[in-house]
Amino acid sequence: MINRNPSIANIKAGYLFPEIARRRREFEAAHPNGARIISLGVGDTTEPILPHINAGLVNGAKALGKAETYSGYQDEGLLSLRARISEVFYKNAFAPDEVFISDGAKCDIGRLQLLFGAGVTVAAQDPSYPVYVDGSALAGAAGAWQGGGYEGIAYLPCVAENDYFPDLSRIPENALVYFCSPNNPTGAVASKRRLSELIAVARKKGCIIIFDAAYAEFIRDPSLPKTIFEIEGAETCAIEVNSFSKPAGFTGVRLGWTVVPKALKYAGGESVNADWARVTSTIFNGASNIAQAGALAALEADGLKEIRELTDFYLENARLIRETLQKLGVSSVGGDNSPYIWAHFPNRDSWDVFAEILETRRVITTPGSGFGPAGQSFIRFSAFGHRADVEEACARLSALDVV
Ligand code: PLP
Repeated sequence: MINRNPSIANIKAGYLFPEIARRRREFEAAHPNGARIISLGVGDTTEPILPHINAGLVNGAKALGKAETYSGYQDEGLLSLRARISEVFYKNAFAPDEVFISDGAKCDIGRLQLLFGAGVTVAAQDPSYPVYVDGSALAGAAGAWQGGGYEGIAYLPCVAENDYFPDLSRIPENALVYFCSPNNPTGAVASKRRLSELIAVARKKGCIIIFDAAYAEFIRDPSLPKTIFEIEGAETCAIEVNSFSKPAGFTGVRLGWTVVPKALKYAGGESVNADWARVTSTIFNGASNIAQAGALAALEADGLKEIRELTDFYLENARLIRETLQKLGVSSVGGDNSPYIWAHFPNRDSWDVFAEILETRRVITTPGSGFGPAGQSFIRFSAFGHRADVEEACARLSALDVV
């Protein structure tokens, strides 16, 4: 028989969210007659796609039914969409062939590892979105899972003491650095000054940053950067992944993009952009043309208004959750420029707090330790939910005994 890929043996057993779902099912089976469980757990969107963007999707599907407007493979994405993304988000700083349309940020985060191979040194914020480290493990670049983390990953703790921004001196030379802002799970957003420091360190140490801006549209403070490319010099050391999932409700539709600047080079001077074009054309056949029609509608004036409306809705949920935690005396960050609230329960185990909130309040949350060793004693609350559910969850949480 053929051998198993040893990298799969290295990956941490059980992805976080299926484990939460398993515990929920177990609890429901044991308590069949209790009150309905409300989820403030996973970061999946709940509200319908708004009318202008939805019409874009519908028209995209209709166009496939007529000979004159039928289209097939889209390769690296519709040229018009690539150009429009550059215009809306990057002030036309990038040519369309530096913007690659994907079927979502997560998918590209996984595929990007192919550019660097198993020998690359990986650094990631701790806590962080699990795919950065688990994806690195699958690519053979993380070493073995050792209980609290992967042996080969340089974890960059982001904790209250450092204002949730890592100590940059811990970044190894020539590392691939995953950085997410607004951050999942902490909800913290890095300032321009801080990102400038990150870029300076990356350039000095020969690093490439994979900057995940999936929550950029939740930023309301105009002084906070929405893209790494607001920082001078980033085009020589960073790739940005982004997505329509959270701002437009496309988690199921699937559409994202990745900016790979032509100015970005490997140590040997080769073009990362040319390699990414090669990788995507080899193992990816382009995003759905229906989804791309929806994205084009999302980037029209009416679509951008709807993105604002939808993100405002979730930010109001976040405000309600933050206010509830504040009244309880639970210290938390995030939720003002991001849909996540990161709550601290000092000296408690994250999974124990998760279980207590589930058992006593019937509210699902996400244990912070699932996002990395520095997440221990934290709980992530997600603002993605129907308003009535969030209000009900907040009412139930108000009775939480946190001592
Ligand atoms: N990046 C971050 C930080 C996320 O939290 C998520 C989803 O939760 C994604 C990317 C996934 O985006 P997509 O739906 O485009 O794959």
